[in-house]
Amino acid sequence: MKAAVSYDMNQPLVIEEVSLDPPQQGEVRVRVAATAICHSDVHYLRGDWEISRPFIAGHESAGVVVETGPGATLVQPGDRVVVSLLRSCGRCDFCLSGDPNHCSATWPLDTESRIRNSDGQSIKHGVRVASFAEYVIVDQSQLATIPDSMSLEAASLLACGVITGFGAVVNTAQVETGSAVVVIGTAAFWAPLSPARAR
Ligand SMILES: [Zn+2]
Ligand SMILES: [Zn+2]
Repeated sequence: MKAAVSYDMNQPLVIEEVSLDPPQQGEVRVRVAATAICHSDVHYLRGDWEISRPFIAGHESAGVVVETGPGATLVQPGDRVVVSLLRSCGRCDFCLSGDPNHCSATWPLDTESRIRNSDGQSIKHGVRVASFAEYVIVDQSQLATIPDSMSLEAASLLACGVITGFGAVVNTAQVETGSAVVVIGTAAFWAPLSPARAR
């Protein structure tokens, strides 16, 4: 598949063919239909935040399930899904107390990669998704199916931007239905990233 790989901080992404291993236990391969750019991606790409390289950025995406690994039963090929960066085991204290975004489980994909470049070099799944690529491999708990009536472009925004704002409103500010609120700080930003280049 083609992917946009970051080899050096603040340098152009390299568009290249990379290989993708099959999904392992509980994992799913999704064909990416749409991916947004979150400012967290920009921080990693620019080197503001540390990450091991090479890596593929992108963690706000939506697409279609194409392959399920052993034990992955929550989705099926053909399902339209939002791909989240959050994994949850459903069994730890956090998950059982309704706080799955703080799940304490560890995952093979925390340390392993399913992606290699043509030199055989392992490429990190950045921000647990790596959606600046034609396909992603993620744990099945990172997927939420969406109705046919929702466009995949709009759905991709649900993966991070929308849930971040929703969490701030519902969990942090504890705004209730019917509350009157003032929204401060909606803003657009421009990030001076270099254009990508082909390898
Ligand atoms: Zn994000
Ligand atoms: Zn858990």
